[in-house]
Amino acid sequence: MSEPSRPEPGDRAAFRRSSPPLLRSCLLDRLTRQHPAGPLVVFTLLIALLLPYGLTASGTGAGALLVLAGHSAWTLTEYWVHRLLFHWEASPGTRMARVHWTIHGHHHDHPDDRRRLVMPLAVSVPVTLVLCCVCRFLLGANWMAFMAGFALGYLLYDMLHYHVHHHRPRSRAGRALRRWHLLHHFADDSQRFGISAPWWDLVFGTAGGRRTGPRRPIGPR
Ligand SMILES: [Zn+2]
Ligand SMILES: [Zn+2]
Repeated sequence: MSEPSRPEPGDRAAFRRSSPPLLRSCLLDRLTRQHPAGPLVVFTLLIALLLPYGLTASGTGAGALLVLAGHSAWTLTEYWVHRLLFHWEASPGTRMARVHWTIHGHHHDHPDDRRRLVMPLAVSVPVTLVLCCVCRFLLGANWMAFMAGFALGYLLYDMLHYHVHHHRPRSRAGRALRRWHLLHHFADDSQRFGISAPWWDLVFGTAGGRRTGPRRPIGPR
């Protein structure tokens, strides 16, 4: 995760909270900022629409299994996109390094930037529409139940990610998930890619064993 070098920040807490522009265009840059209520409202409505129609179209039993399958598909997507795409290393100083920093490096450098944590609706809505078309093509009438599970998985992930960064969970599970994710941020970013589904780290061998990559310092290089 490379980004054009900048002076080392003197105040790390302020630096982590800061919110530098990601794009040159002010209008487009505004679209990269997202209040967490946005996906909460939009995806709750989408799930509320897909779930009853999906269970009717597929039948309750098969529909419930499709929801579970959709949720599992999300958790695998979350793990592999984070591991392969978000943590893919581009050569420093290149355009791809900048693209990569925009996608995920910014979040590691500025993890307390409240408006750049959940996926912007400008990205999540078009991606979801494309996925709905693909699922409809592949699954026929079963696409709605599957996408209800997938969207539910996405929504849980984004809300949980926001929660562990900006709140202090009280439940034991919440505290464990927060610790798990903050270790990914501040101890070893080559480990613990699962956020809502940390069990995939156990399955795929990234649960915090021996370091598999160089330690990445917090802040810009
Ligand atoms: Zn994070
Ligand atoms: Zn990461």
